[in-house]
Amino acid sequence: MIDLRSDTLTRPTAGMRAAMAAADVGDDVFGEDPTVAALEARVAALLGHEAGLFVPTGSLANLLGISLLAGPGTEVLCDAQAHVVRAEMGAHGMLSGVTTRTFASTRGVVDPDLVTGMFSIGTRPYIVETGVVALENTHNFGGGSVQPLERLDAVRAAADEYGIAVHLDGARLANASVATGVSLARYGQIADTVSLCLSKGLGAPVGSVLVGTADRIARARIQRKRMGAGWRQAGLLAAAGLYALDHNVARLADDHAAARAFAETVAERADGVVDVDAVETNIVVMNTGDQVAADVAAAARQAGVALTVVGSRAVRAVTHLDVSFDEVVEAGRRVGGLFAG
Ligand SMILES: *Cc1c(COP(=O)(O)O)cnc(C)c1O
Repeated sequence: MIDLRSDTLTRPTAGMRAAMAAADVGDDVFGEDPTVAALEARVAALLGHEAGLFVPTGSLANLLGISLLAGPGTEVLCDAQAHVVRAEMGAHGMLSGVTTRTFASTRGVVDPDLVTGMFSIGTRPYIVETGVVALENTHNFGGGSVQPLERLDAVRAAADEYGIAVHLDGARLANASVATGVSLARYGQIADTVSLCLSKGLGAPVGSVLVGTADRIARARIQRKRMGAGWRQAGLLAAAGLYALDHNVARLADDHAAARAFAETVAERADGVVDVDAVETNIVVMNTGDQVAADVAAAARQAGVALTVVGSRAVRAVTHLDVSFDEVVEAGRRVGGLFAG
């Protein structure tokens, strides 16, 4: 099986496991795990923020980040395909008491004018006020699309004008940075809080880091404990994250090249399934046309390729550390063959 369901599937390599085994650890709830502290400081510096908090998942990083910025009874503006609204099981509404209002986008790319037009400020007691705009870069269900920097800057400027906060779901921000050459710190500038996943393309087994001001991160640390996610000798996992930052960032370019080759291979065999030029990073979203996406995914599995269903007419392939370029191209041949009939 060539497994392209997600870049979360990667298993730690021997080098990463050795780094984990050698990690210096302590009790992180007491603030005494030096490896966790090193990872938090490193990611904060990379993103140009004061402080970081290591958490088990990207969903928890987003949950903590957004709840720091938007109080109960306020709203989160995000696009209709955003991970925070589609893939986090209603957590923000259930646990933080916020509502979400979504905007339309093309492949997840934000339209700053559209978003600014939705800001709701000074509308109490009649209308819910906007607390935060949540942006996603790269955009997962948008097909790994990269948000153009000028659009991010425009949202940030408008948010500042209205006193609205910005959270960046940067689960795959390293992919955006590698694809564009824009530094993580430059992307970090556009948001008050940023989440970064170590467990996606970077290849760590577990973990995300939330960054923000020292004051906000101190509050997030308490909220993390409250939610039952204070952890102890987590330096074993933080060591994997540090190893990932040392070894697996630049190589994301290989995943991007493989994703493009996959899309080209499919496109050579079938029309209208994939827009090759839209493939900017490691994700390829395919339009299944008049076929039900779940049926296409089942047929692909029969052909030895695992894909994810991301919509009634959309399936997704994600390239990663554990699949070679040649395997990805072979998967493209098989999937393209299915669409060709
Ligand atoms: C994977 C992902 C997350 C976090 O996922 P977890 O499984 O909770 O770690 C958040 N945002 C985006 C865009 C993602 O792709």
